[in-house]
Amino acid sequence: MANVTLRSVRKTYPGGFEAIKGVDVDVGDGQFCVLVGPSGCGKSTLLRMVAGLETVTGGEIDIGGRVVNQVEPADRDIAMVFQNYALYPHMSVYNNMAYGLRNRGMAEAEIKTRVEEAARVLELAPMLERKPRQLSGGQRQRVAMGRAIVRQPKVFLFDEPLSNLDAKLRIAMRVEIRKLQRRLNTTSIYVTHDQLEAMTLADILVVMNGGQVEQVGNPLAIYEKP
Ligand code: ADP
Ligand code: ADP
Repeated sequence: MANVTLRSVRKTYPGGFEAIKGVDVDVGDGQFCVLVGPSGCGKSTLLRMVAGLETVTGGEIDIGGRVVNQVEPADRDIAMVFQNYALYPHMSVYNNMAYGLRNRGMAEAEIKTRVEEAARVLELAPMLERKPRQLSGGQRQRVAMGRAIVRQPKVFLFDEPLSNLDAKLRIAMRVEIRKLQRRLNTTSIYVTHDQLEAMTLADILVVMNGGQVEQVGNPLAIYEKP
């Protein structure tokens, strides 16, 4: 079980800028939550606090019933998919996916099982020996997702993962992410400034503005309001 619950979360950056002004959000187990809103509204700050990449000024972040404010990123049972993929250019697809698991001292046999399973789900099986430069943009993005999947985290965090792709590919990847979510059923928080992307992906939509939550709910209910 991995609810993610934010209780009165606040963030003031050094220098005094108040980026998050008391946010309450509850993401149920297996739900796909999308944070949407204009550039600068605090989406990335909020996601980075959940990841543990940014300290929390006030309130609580709870993952799976445990307050993680003081917990190191590596011990939060999350995996993050970034906008710029962050793949190692000199490593094969297989090793890109295996790297983090190896660093944790996992046995090679278990690593192999996990990487091959992820490759199957992501349709990367024939490409495991290729280097990132020998892949298309969409395939690279799938490798980045593979690196997160092999960790078998309780929660996926996505930071505008599709924003570097062209429009056609973005739509295709959106569909893939949705399928993947149905299959893995992992609690997810996904940041985007793209309303259509948010609508397509979200079970729960969190509309942010100026460091606050403007609306929360089912995407259809929110966008159908006059
Ligand atoms: P979004 O992801 O919605 O574009 P961000 O979370 O990146 O928004 O930023 C929210 C606000 O916090 C912005 O006004 C931004 O300039 C400010 N901000 C982000 N990072 C820092 C930082 N390290 N120091 C000071 N202000 C920051
Ligand atoms: P590297 O970051 O060089 O790939 P590791 O994969 O071992 O090395 O991770 C180092 C640190 O970065 C750890 O704290 C790990 O939890 C974190 N980390 C790496 N990849 C991710 C990811 N996809 N999501 C969340 N945390 C990650």
